[in-house]
Amino acid sequence: MWEPGRPLAAVCPHGHTAPDPACACGIYAVREPDGARRYLLGRDDLHVVGRVLGQVALWGKVVEAQLGWRASRAYPASLEPAAAEIARLYGVPVCPTIPTWRSFEPRLASSTA
Ligand SMILES: [Zn+2]
Repeated sequence: MWEPGRPLAAVCPHGHTAPDPACACGIYAVREPDGARRYLLGRDDLHVVGRVLGQVALWGKVVEAQLGWRASRAYPASLEPAAAEIARLYGVPVCPTIPTWRSFEPRLASSTA
């Protein structure tokens, strides 16, 4: 759970400081919205309570990856317009250019059919 008003801190189950370039740990962020598709597909586990697309501030240790970055600390910077109520809760603005994660659903459905 990403608590409003508190940065998310990465923790690696292997015990080292996250992110480590040789590990997969850290808080993931993608450069382009389409890069988020891989994090939506097949992620309907029971523990998933909601999804929101947005921009995120990353700091601390940041490792560049193929589609974006992995970081040690993060907090939402802005969220999709459909998540205005959540944006208020987190104290961040909505950004009209961020697509809603629901806009990925038709493509997700066609890629799993
Ligand atoms: Zn690790």
